[in-house]
Amino acid sequence: MVLSLLVWAAMGHAVAQDTTVTGPDGKLEVTLCCPPSTGCPACTVTYEGKVMLESSPLGLVTDAGDFSQGLKPDGEVRTRSIDTVYTQSRIKTSTVHYKANELVCAYVNAKGQKMRLTFRVGNNDIAFRYTLPKSGETGSVRVLQETTGFRFPAHTTTFLTPQSDPMIGWKRTKPSYEEEYKADAPLDDKSQYGHGYTFPALYRIGGDGWVLLSETGVDSRYCASHLSDAEDRTYRIAFPMPGENNGNGTVEPAFALPGSTPWRTVTVGSTLKPIVETTVPWDVVEPRYDTRHAYRMGRGTWSWIVWQDGSINYDDQVKYIDLAADMGYEYVLVDNWWDANIGHGRMEQLIRYAHSRGVDVFLWYSSSGYWNDIEQSPKNRMDNPIARKREMHWLRAQGVKGIKVDFFGGDKQETMRLYEAILSDADDYGLMVIFHGCTLPRGWERMYPNYVGSEAVLASENMVFNQHFCDNEAFNACLHPFIRNTVGCMEFGGVFMNKRLNKGNDGGTTRVTTDVFQLATSILFQNPIQNFALTPGNLTDAPKLCMDFMRQVPVTWDETRFIDGYPGKYVVLARRHADTWYVAAANATDRPLKLEVDLSMLGEGQAAMYADNKRLQPELKTLELEEGVRTTLTVMPQGGVVVVK
Ligand code: CA
Repeated sequence: MVLSLLVWAAMGHAVAQDTTVTGPDGKLEVTLCCPPSTGCPACTVTYEGKVMLESSPLGLVTDAGDFSQGLKPDGEVRTRSIDTVYTQSRIKTSTVHYKANELVCAYVNAKGQKMRLTFRVGNNDIAFRYTLPKSGETGSVRVLQETTGFRFPAHTTTFLTPQSDPMIGWKRTKPSYEEEYKADAPLDDKSQYGHGYTFPALYRIGGDGWVLLSETGVDSRYCASHLSDAEDRTYRIAFPMPGENNGNGTVEPAFALPGSTPWRTVTVGSTLKPIVETTVPWDVVEPRYDTRHAYRMGRGTWSWIVWQDGSINYDDQVKYIDLAADMGYEYVLVDNWWDANIGHGRMEQLIRYAHSRGVDVFLWYSSSGYWNDIEQSPKNRMDNPIARKREMHWLRAQGVKGIKVDFFGGDKQETMRLYEAILSDADDYGLMVIFHGCTLPRGWERMYPNYVGSEAVLASENMVFNQHFCDNEAFNACLHPFIRNTVGCMEFGGVFMNKRLNKGNDGGTTRVTTDVFQLATSILFQNPIQNFALTPGNLTDAPKLCMDFMRQVPVTWDETRFIDGYPGKYVVLARRHADTWYVAAANATDRPLKLEVDLSMLGEGQAAMYADNKRLQPELKTLELEEGVRTTLTVMPQGGVVVVK
């Protein structure tokens, strides 16, 4: 561990103390200071000597005391090395070796109250949080404000998505992390709604490297936060807006003492590799409960995405169960209105039919409730423990394996409590949980053993609703592996084999990406339960080689490696499932890309390669891999390549 205390005297009396902690390989360095003139703590981050964050403010203000100014180090400085291995079944990698140096510094404010600041610094990741001890009679605090900010060098550009207004959009269900990104935008660009930006947030520090900001470990004991608009190149931690959740619940998170805030995370690299491969959202959190259930990850079909509301009837659901059985998939997801159009009674019959075909069932629910105008049912079943447990009892009795809960009320602590309550109750009944119309997951794969996915993205449905999202599909797909999907699983609900996104494959919006591009997204997008947008018609109207690929594509990964790419332009990454590597490439530019890539992890010999031919039709070819020779991949515009070995 490298830790240095640099002490110097200023004006002969006031003493400033800089404390530095570096990652295990010495390249990432965090310097903490607290100038006596202001008593405002701040940190600076460098990577290989280059400034990634300029002096960035730290601190928080609570109803019990101000920990943002007038602070003095109280002399308590503790350090330790963390070296631990953990396993995960639902993230980008199955075994994580987490190594970091931890620094804990304590400060006291003018009233003599103490705050501890904990930094964990790995080779490319920083996680930090505030801890307040219990002192005196005070047993709990409300956090009125965080002064935590991130100040970027002037040559930084941004890849951000805005926080929306509250109570807008479909049935007043926003914010739900379904806004568009701007790529390579200027620093200090004003956000679309004036409420700043949601996590995760990607920054390019000119030619010096990349920084990804996010947070993790958010549960019922805090709100989810976002970033403010920048002022003087500084993005600050912002709390939810008062109007979220239809005005119900406070915007000021509260916790019992002693207690801590969630972790804020900063991932840093000279290339995008540490951004794509980061595991920091899971490194610093712990499971909230153990489970006695063995949850099975897998693939599913869902009629709603292409056939829409009209397909939520018994006969159409039989067709999608048969499709799942034909594809060898584990699940079928029956989406909104099933209680009205099929009913609980006939649903029992439908579930028995699914089981007879070897297919397990997920059922959809609305989260609401009293916080939006949602009419889709079932509703009022997941928002309170009495109705919820009664419904879950029925679900378990039918052998249902999971639920998809939609349309949450934003980021307040009250809503975080609802997410946790649903997850915790569902685990009692052996149910997995997917969230839609929801917030970003923040470490939840490790925290909740039955959590299997969140939307929190402009997902596949938008391509069905609006041609604009078809036209931007490749751009968005080339952003997610670097931003949204790198910090948490993403239930995108994609892989369309339809050219036209309606039931007859003859109307509605038009897909502009190639079939191989679609196959590539099954690997580029990571979620441990993938509900694919295939239709029964695709068994005969889609290329057989594509459907055969989709029969065997895995959804759980042992390893993920960044190979090449630039956010919004193109991406090449590799994921390993057991002994098989899947390399996926996608091109959002309007020109063919000839990429010389290092696929040495595949070893030498023959690999299967799915690629677009000149007419943009899918072809399956053999790729010869030679030791020590880079591989040339030609990726067509709006197209893709998949290599399997
Ligand atoms: Ca949605």
